Amino acid sequence: RHGSNLWRWSAKYTLDIAQTLYEEYKLITYPRTDSRHLPTDMRDSIDELITELSKQDDYSEHCRRLADDGLTNTARNFNDAKVSDHYAVIPTGNNPPANLPAPARQLYDHITRRFLASFHPHATWLDAKRVATKNEQILTAKASTLEVAGWRAVIPKPNSSPEGWGVLAETPCIGEIAAIEVQQKQTKPAPRMKDAGVLSAMENAGKIIDDEEFREAISEKGLGTPATRADHIEKLISHSYIERLKSGGLRATAKGIRLIEVLRRIPVNWLSSPELTGEMESRLSGVQQGTFDSAEYMMEINHKVIAMVESVKGYESDTLYPHDQPLGDCPVCDGKVYEGMLNYHCQHNKRGKGCPFAIWKDSRGRYFDIITATRFLNDGKVDDLHGFVNRSSEEFTASIIRNDDHKLEFLSQGPSKEELSAAEELIGCPTCEGGSIKVTDTHWACDNGACKSKPLARNICKREMQTDEALRYFTEGETELIEDFISKRGKPFTAKLVNRGGRLKFEFPPRQNNGRSNLPQYEVTEGVVGTYSQRGSKVPIIESATHFIAADNDQGIELEIPRTFAKRELLRDECKTLVEQGKVGPLDDFISKKGKPFSAILVLNRSGNVKFRFD
Ligand SMILES: [Zn+2]
Ligand SMILES: [Zn+2]
Repeated sequence: RHGSNLWRWSAKYTLDIAQTLYEEYKLITYPRTDSRHLPTDMRDSIDELITELSKQDDYSEHCRRLADDGLTNTARNFNDAKVSDHYAVIPTGNNPPANLPAPARQLYDHITRRFLASFHPHATWLDAKRVATKNEQILTAKASTLEVAGWRAVIPKPNSSPEGWGVLAETPCIGEIAAIEVQQKQTKPAPRMKDAGVLSAMENAGKIIDDEEFREAISEKGLGTPATRADHIEKLISHSYIERLKSGGLRATAKGIRLIEVLRRIPVNWLSSPELTGEMESRLSGVQQGTFDSAEYMMEINHKVIAMVESVKGYESDTLYPHDQPLGDCPVCDGKVYEGMLNYHCQHNKRGKGCPFAIWKDSRGRYFDIITATRFLNDGKVDDLHGFVNRSSEEFTASIIRNDDHKLEFLSQGPSKEELSAAEELIGCPTCEGGSIKVTDTHWACDNGACKSKPLARNICKREMQTDEALRYFTEGETELIEDFISKRGKPFTAKLVNRGGRLKFEFPPRQNNGRSNLPQYEVTEGVVGTYSQRGSKVPIIESATHFIAADNDQGIELEIPRTFAKRELLRDECKTLVEQGKVGPLDDFISKKGKPFSAILVLNRSGNVKFRFD
């Protein structure tokens, strides 16, 4: 476990190294033990072992000290009751070969020092605390100095005293404030458990069991055995129930969390709790002591397994997740959103048919619990959401939004402040006061954090963007038509890059006969035509020569309604009715493709398209 704590070794790696020290180099005793004690009949051989170890330069000083002062803690270290099949891991006294690999040497040194330290007396520290008062504020500082080395002579630890601690002239004394430094910090959640933490949690799993009898049965043993615990961790990783981060922290995957969640709902939660092991251990020791019949024990196990398999195979997703409490309204249709096994979905979403809306519990490698999913559904976004993992197994925080297709999307982050301040300037920012557009390795972006312009990636759809294109994008809000983008399916396409309400969009060239170039042009009257509402936000609609359009806005709302339908001009006040009430008409004087006049109602649907309706 120390290997994992001190050196970020995984539990399995540590055990593997220990195994080579035991088998191959014969430098330590059997490592797969959970005892920290030695049998009393080893008392004499320990003296011999210390004599052997004194021949190794690194330990001779400590061995000599033990020989001179005698061994302490012998009553604690030699305890037959706490030794089962194996005793504590100790060195064998053999001399390590010169070619011993570094990790093995490191672990050997650690084991040997722990062994020698365990026979040393206590270390004594002098803790000093100084209290300063100023305007009723009380400030404290502490320092620790080693007074009596004891076992710390073998495993040293430096004194800890704040910078400039020094010596006080007298106590108490008047001092002066030399400098004040203000630091802004944020609270942090508890760090992720590493291998050592999980091993210790498995070892002490009994503590969280309510039933006293079961707790007792497991308290000495924990979950698994010392020989198997590390393998259990690796097994969970290989089945993708947990993953190991670059930091060494272990985190449950969405798959792992879903499994436990379903087991609890079925409910077979005893399968996911240490209670089961506690109960089995308790019965088993009953069998061992002859107070519980072994046939009865086996029968009980049989019943449990049958009952478990029955309930696992008999469950229905609908009964596990009854539609009782909706998360909120469906953004696509008039349905409500409910929790299911794999996702949170619209009530009209029936196995992929009907309304398509769903938020997947496993989105971008992160588990979306019901609280986060509810926030995301109702706000359409979540800022600074922690717990995503990148390809190098590092966790990161990102803001997410629901895009126009109602899918989860990362808000593009752009380069960091540090990157921007180090980067070269392209132009002064046309959008904000005082900012400049900088060129980083990956983006063009304004270095003013408050600026509304959005970063432009230097590589978009497998195409290197050119400086003059970036210039146009930032100064005019759009590029010219660019021909050689490559789509995700590998097909080349042509588009303009447009900054729409702060979001980067592709705008495709108009198709023949349907494009705006063929639409009649009208005079543009300034001012607001009407107000368009979408997702609870409102934007003013204004005129362009060919369309009624949503004015620039930072909610990302877009709307384009042609000013001409079937050769008939849509008038300004008709458009106002259309955007504000969702329909207008019946209107007369439309001309069909065959040249015949007709009447129809114009309807504006939820995706912003206008359709004819005849009733
Ligand atoms: Zn829906
Ligand atoms: Zn700017």
